[in-house]
Amino acid sequence: PIVLGIESTCDETAAAIVQGRTLRSNVVASSMNEHARYGGVIPEIASRAHAEAFVPVVGKALADAGLELSDVDAIAVSAGPGLAGCLAVGVSGAKALAYAANKPLYGVNHVIGHIAVTQLQFGPFPDDTLALIVSGGHTSLLHVRDVARHVDVVGTTLDDAAGECFDKVARLLGFPYPGGPHIDRHARLGDPRAIRVPQGLTQGKAAARHPYDFSFSGVKTAVARWIEEQRALGNEIPVDDVCASLADSVASVLAKKAINGCRRFDSRTLIVGGGFSANSQLRTKLAEVGEDNGVQVRIPRIGLCTDNGAMVAMLGVNLVEAGVGPSSPGFPIDSAMPMSKILMD
Ligand code: ATP
Ligand code: MG
Ligand code: FE
Repeated sequence: PIVLGIESTCDETAAAIVQGRTLRSNVVASSMNEHARYGGVIPEIASRAHAEAFVPVVGKALADAGLELSDVDAIAVSAGPGLAGCLAVGVSGAKALAYAANKPLYGVNHVIGHIAVTQLQFGPFPDDTLALIVSGGHTSLLHVRDVARHVDVVGTTLDDAAGECFDKVARLLGFPYPGGPHIDRHARLGDPRAIRVPQGLTQGKAAARHPYDFSFSGVKTAVARWIEEQRALGNEIPVDDVCASLADSVASVLAKKAINGCRRFDSRTLIVGGGFSANSQLRTKLAEVGEDNGVQVRIPRIGLCTDNGAMVAMLGVNLVEAGVGPSSPGFPIDSAMPMSKILMD
């Protein structure tokens, strides 16, 4: 099937066409430069930007694929989780398109889209596979029985997401928002053993009680305290070393727990997705542990890690192929859509 995917959960207005497992077009417009000076995404500004970008972005996705709206078999749109005002713009626009062109519409889970997108590079998922979601808003391990029908949450962060943790430390170091990519760049130049950064829920009782859960708030606190101490001593902050130590700790925990999950669910494949999967330290770590444990790690190419329309279209293809859905004409948005819910009824 040919599916038009539309994304508007946060600051990206994005649309893409996927046909089967082939990406035919992929257009992303971001309002991030309008938010950067506020140190975070401002919902009102983002919603307004979606309203402006929606028609041009969808139009370009169709034009780049050499298609008209009448040529697509279905439309998929992120129905949640995300910023309510942003979701409302994308979902309303998608409903209008689906109504006007008489196409089935699928209101899908954005986070599941982040893992579905790997199929463009690696083909369909094996049954009962394990997935690691790492983004600005989420850090979870999922047991994916069937991506169109059944996903279970195996573990999740008890506090901050991995991306959020990087963004918070980046702020301490004076990097502009979002700081994740800046930490990545500096981490490549530093010594990962320079400072001690805790690895939450990996030892003792806490690890036993939360084998597949994550905790990153202690990381930020430890780094913040260390920086304060150094400043009080009048020492210059070795930014590269701080970034390298932080990145090594976070990437190690993610890789360790993901592999433990693969063992527990007997999965020879690990699907990885979400904006933080662009992180080079995580990519290296996962490649290492995958190799050591005989697990094939499927991680999107950098351009498909952060929010895009291809991930939404790919999940739409999965639902069309499985005969699940479409959503009802009046389906709602859900800014806190749980990961176990793949499609809005
Ligand atoms: P969600 O998908 O959970 O709703 P989101 O859409 O806000 O959250 P994404 O766009 O998927 O998140 O990812 C953005 C996050 O990824 C930010 O926290 C950003 O700092 C982080 N990020 C992007 N690239 C990198 C990188 N190379 N290293 C570390 N973090 C990165
Ligand atoms: Mg974004
Ligand atoms: Fe996302």
